[in-house]
Amino acid sequence: DRIVSSQVTLPDEKFDRAVRPERLADYVGQPSVCQQMEIFIEAARRRSEALDHTLIFGPPGLGKTTLANIIANEMGSSIKTTSGPVLERAGDLAALLTNLDEGDVLFIDEIHRLNAAIEEVLYPAMEDFQLDIMIGEGPAARSIKLDLPPFTLVGATTRAGLLTSPLRDRFGIVQRLEFYSTRDLTHIVARSAGLMGVSIEPSGAEEIAKRSRGTPRIANRLLRRVRDYAEVKGDGNVNQDSANAALNMLKVDHRGFDHLDRRLLSSIIERFDGGPVGIESLAAAISEEKGTIEDVLEPFLIQQGYIIRTPRGRMVTDLAYQHFGIKGASDGTL
Ligand code: ADP
Repeated sequence: DRIVSSQVTLPDEKFDRAVRPERLADYVGQPSVCQQMEIFIEAARRRSEALDHTLIFGPPGLGKTTLANIIANEMGSSIKTTSGPVLERAGDLAALLTNLDEGDVLFIDEIHRLNAAIEEVLYPAMEDFQLDIMIGEGPAARSIKLDLPPFTLVGATTRAGLLTSPLRDRFGIVQRLEFYSTRDLTHIVARSAGLMGVSIEPSGAEEIAKRSRGTPRIANRLLRRVRDYAEVKGDGNVNQDSANAALNMLKVDHRGFDHLDRRLLSSIIERFDGGPVGIESLAAAISEEKGTIEDVLEPFLIQQGYIIRTPRGRMVTDLAYQHFGIKGASDGTL
């Protein structure tokens, strides 16, 4: 129920698909990623080879799935999509691998959540395009080897550090997605509004962009809610005033923070004297899972300079104190 959650919800999925760019030229922002991918894709195409296995990492909602689909489109191949937690047995992966055509993309989302047995099957598949699996059980068990067509594995993960090093080492291309600038998000909001037939002024798109935590998925979700507001309370036109009023009503502040961010920051300030505080204590204090804090909440707060990670735990910065109208620790007032 968190309006600024970067994680995908069912209504997002349908909408995400409808506005998802299909070509690299329409992928907004991420200049370094786009520049590199354009060259790697073009080189692979000229050699008529499958693109090297590609690992994409970055917080949720930044465009990993979108980029995987674009890679397949630009290579002129098909994409099969699965995710780490869905692949339970080696046979599940074998079924996917043996259904690939030459040059196809196999996209594994949340690849850090693959179990060890499946990773073992993936190594020779990635390295030598060989499937090496045991079939049957007990004395009747035997191992079979199958040749696979050259394919491209695209893996996505929220944090590269979560991957085992043998898996990580098998990716020829590693791309890291960064939070988007307000300018890029403004462009994304305007583009989505165009596709949805929503009338929007540049100032309205910018207001939504500023409060979207650097994340296209959030920008697109906020756009849908601001549109509702503009239709009911106004003439349907999204401008700075309607965007501002709608987002205030949704309790998303001018920095894109919501109650959870505020709770996290105020808890470090009030309960832990500004930190450092260990992630476990923090999770207990705000009743959130450690993983949610690490993957969803803190990356944006760190990137914006509100929290820093030290070897002894998380600390808030003066910016966080200022956000709550309290003078910073370094002012000697606390
Ligand atoms: P992730 O897989 O990283 O969680 P997605 O690829 O599903 O994120 O992106 C969420 C939505 O955000 C997409 O459906 C798309 O509409 C939008 N989006 C993401 N990246 C871009 C981009 N670079 N340009 C335009 N829209 C984007």
